[in-house]
Amino acid sequence: MNNKQITVTSPLLPPLEEFVPYLQEIWDSKWITNGGQMHQRLEKKLAEYLGVEYISLFTNGTLPLITALQALRITGEVITTPYSFVATSHAIWWNGLQPIFVDVDPKTGNIDPDKIEAAITPRTSAIMPVHVYGNPCDVERISEIANRYNLKVIYDAAHAFGVRINGKSILEYGDISTLSFHATKTYTTVEGGALVCRSAEMKQKIDYLKNFGFEDETVVVAPGINSKMDEVRAAFGLVNLKHVDEAIEKRHEVVEKYRKALKNVDGIKFFDDLPNVVHNYSYFPIFVDSKRYGMTRDELYAKMRENNVLGRRYFYPLISSFSPYRSYKSAAIENLPVANKLADSVICLPLHPGLNEDDVERIINIIRK
Ligand SMILES: *Cc1c(COP(=O)(O)O)cnc(C)c1O
Repeated sequence: MNNKQITVTSPLLPPLEEFVPYLQEIWDSKWITNGGQMHQRLEKKLAEYLGVEYISLFTNGTLPLITALQALRITGEVITTPYSFVATSHAIWWNGLQPIFVDVDPKTGNIDPDKIEAAITPRTSAIMPVHVYGNPCDVERISEIANRYNLKVIYDAAHAFGVRINGKSILEYGDISTLSFHATKTYTTVEGGALVCRSAEMKQKIDYLKNFGFEDETVVVAPGINSKMDEVRAAFGLVNLKHVDEAIEKRHEVVEKYRKALKNVDGIKFFDDLPNVVHNYSYFPIFVDSKRYGMTRDELYAKMRENNVLGRRYFYPLISSFSPYRSYKSAAIENLPVANKLADSVICLPLHPGLNEDDVERIINIIRK
């Protein structure tokens, strides 16, 4: 029996021979970081590809979140989701702010707009939602609430590379959106990330902040940080950008196979595509109803592992249950029943462009029993 290990993801690696000429160019220039040619080219190409006007590259996907809060001068409390990767809340914490957790919508896993208003206090100054799994948040409702209470909106769009809604980039919503290009994401620069904002003025500010706050050689305008992307990774990104569409298509094919095979399995649920949305198929979460399925989520997870299929329980445990946050009032289980239910039932199935028919069949057979 074929028992090759199947991991939840696998990095999008560009063909090495396509990467080498870019490296040669960098070597020839002797310019390896600090906003060189590759950095400039990747910003331009990404702006075109994503359909956004102002984008700044970063060295990972966490620092643009931290920098966004700093650039918008957010104070006090920030409303956010517990159902995400821990970096979302950590970015709030690193600015000396308090994350306030709000429950999520069972249909998408995203922050539930119906529950945001009750969490707003005089100290609230921003909302930081996440387009979890690349499913767009209810951007219209969130922006309406933000306008009414004069709050800033920063979207953690780490999962939403290339996602579009109503014919435009999801990154065009909110005051700022951030991306991650980590090795595990749909589009990668090894480590990397980006910040999308609404004006040339804000981009200028962001570009200072990611370079220690330097405005020019002798002037520092703010206590910025060092989070620039270097030339080697920008070049990696330029090559990968030529392959990401094909990668997303292959992911889509795998997702359709999963959906077809699992739609009649009692006790297994998954999300469908949303209307008017171009998805990127970055994750395929399934939710296990143990009574109907006849096995708990953790039993199925263990069975997959026994068969060398490494799914991941994204996002379990909830951020709100980690030690830095669990004592918060908003972290209480009673405040977050839907998020707790999703976290306790989810498994993300392996999903990447390198999966072949046999791999997918093996995975499906484990779940179908
Ligand atoms: C990956 C991820 C991040 C952090 O990105 P890094 O590039 O790993 O720093 C932030 N938020 C979410 C939701 C993520 O999945």
